[in-house]
Amino acid sequence: MILCTEVEKLQALVKEAKKSNKSIGLVPTMGALHKGHMSLIEACHAENDLTIVSDFVNPVQFGPNEDYEKYPRQLSADTELAQKAGAEVLFAPKATDFYPDKDMTWVEVTGNIVKVLCGRTRPIHFRGVATVVSKLFHLAQPDKAYFGQKDAQQVEVLKKMVHDLFIPVKLRIMPIVRDTDGLAISSRNAYLSDEEHKNALVLNQSLKHAASLYAGGERNTKVIRQAITDMIAANPMADIDYVELYQLPGLKPMADKLTNKTLAAVAVRFGKTRLIDNIIL
Ligand code: AMP
Repeated sequence: MILCTEVEKLQALVKEAKKSNKSIGLVPTMGALHKGHMSLIEACHAENDLTIVSDFVNPVQFGPNEDYEKYPRQLSADTELAQKAGAEVLFAPKATDFYPDKDMTWVEVTGNIVKVLCGRTRPIHFRGVATVVSKLFHLAQPDKAYFGQKDAQQVEVLKKMVHDLFIPVKLRIMPIVRDTDGLAISSRNAYLSDEEHKNALVLNQSLKHAASLYAGGERNTKVIRQAITDMIAANPMADIDYVELYQLPGLKPMADKLTNKTLAAVAVRFGKTRLIDNIIL
């Protein structure tokens, strides 16, 4: 596997791959690789001739009071893990090379899709995500790009960006990978104490409860949302940011009854750590 820290070097590798007609798959990550990332890299490796994984804590998607500085960074462990999962190139640029100028070009999806859910408390987040992913698309020129359903709103935002900008890439969305105890795996789980981790299991449990209500025929939006909320609110350590339901695709507002594919999404703080999780009904 090639560890590539320079933009020009990645461009040269991509040019070479294109010349040999190789299909290119891209897995954008912020590093601190775990089983969730590995599942994306493995899928990418299985479906493409060249797998490029980016490993970059993207400064412009963090708000001023968020965890950019303390976000876990472990490039040497990531190098081993990415290679094990089938990556051929690990792209880990310096922030100052990736964003060389203070005055920069943004890619910004607008509308409700970026204002609801995490967009309410993270107003600049999805502009940062759309900008970094579109820059990575221009650099890697992937045929396919791999993202996790764990970040359901990110998936909707990127689908819109790709559609609106006519970007010739196929987005492959992979299922949420969970610990054996059910907690959705996240780089931020490393911040949790054992007790917080145990209490955070309520997220998956509440979403599974919603799924069982749905399977039993419940279609009332308020009833399902309330059932999730009640279960999380009963947990002594949980501090709810949101429990919301939206229609898919596009995060359109719900009617009284669930008729279309529906996203049930939660964001909850345990101590200082904010976790997200979701399920599609
Ligand atoms: P991140 O490094 O957190 O920005 O995540 C990089 C990619 O991995 C994103 O597309 C995430 O949605 C995806 N991802 C993160 N955690 C998981 C998980 N537990 N299961 C599946 N995909 C995940």
